[in-house]
Amino acid sequence: MSVQPKLVVVGSIGIDTIETPHEKQLDILGGSASYACAASSFFCRTGMVGVVGSDFPDVHRQSWRAMDIDLDGLQTVAGETFRWHGVYEAHMDNRSTISTELGVFADFSPILPEVYRDAPYLFLGNIEPALQLRVLEQMHHPKFVLVDTMDLWINIARESLLRVIGKVTMLTLNESEARLLTGDHTLLAAAKQLLKMGPEYVLIKKGESGSMLFTQTQIFMLHAYPLEHFKDPTGAGDTFAGGFIGKLAELDECTPSAIRRAMAYGSVVASFGVEEFSLRRLAHIDMKDIEQRYAAFVEMSRIS
Ligand code: AMP
Repeated sequence: MSVQPKLVVVGSIGIDTIETPHEKQLDILGGSASYACAASSFFCRTGMVGVVGSDFPDVHRQSWRAMDIDLDGLQTVAGETFRWHGVYEAHMDNRSTISTELGVFADFSPILPEVYRDAPYLFLGNIEPALQLRVLEQMHHPKFVLVDTMDLWINIARESLLRVIGKVTMLTLNESEARLLTGDHTLLAAAKQLLKMGPEYVLIKKGESGSMLFTQTQIFMLHAYPLEHFKDPTGAGDTFAGGFIGKLAELDECTPSAIRRAMAYGSVVASFGVEEFSLRRLAHIDMKDIEQRYAAFVEMSRIS
């Protein structure tokens, strides 16, 4: 019998081709759910909801199992796995999408295993909003629901995205997406509008500059963990969000202090993730590495 996951994550699972100014990696594991589950699995039992095709290499399932990720919500169907090809510009702060092939995602209908439905924490990772809604509707009474999105869905599925945002506890998105969704330029003005859409918390990601958390009464800012070198920023936001909600589920309290600590853990896990392509670095670190970097991060952020 499966152990009930404390956290359920839905998102994309893909085979990526990534070109940075330094190297090109073909056919590597990617997708919002892959990164988020790898990050959250350090902190709590995580159930993955997604779909892959019959071409999906079994070695990836094995590495998720080694991370103790529950795969009962992962469907394997006839057809091709989602594929994405991206190219980064010189300093890796901008990238272009060369191609996206939906493959089996085109007809995906998420069905949650019974044991997932009582999970108290839910992360609706970046995926079509209609699919996020379908997952949310199958959950019984989640205590904390985080949703992520991207410019594509803001542009082509705005209405269903707004429906999802109206039902969640926290919305996370990056600064350009916050501006695109609200039409406001300053992050404070954008966050105020986003809070009016329903969530109690808005968490805006600013890449290397970190993240900002907004509620009706508070603002909290956190820089990203400084790195001298990184190899691939793909999935950094998903890793941050997965680490954040995984830690929050472990703490199992939604106080301002728990949320701030969880954000710092999310940053730390994301800082490891970008040091290698795909999940390669995350697969080779342990809690000792995370705690060491967390302690250094807390020290760097201390004001008095
Ligand atoms: P991020 O760097 O946070 O944008 O996440 C990158 C991951 O998102 C890659 O591993 C891709 O496989 C995945 N991805 C790219 N396009 C999409 C899309 N339209 N929907 C869902 N996931 C996507």
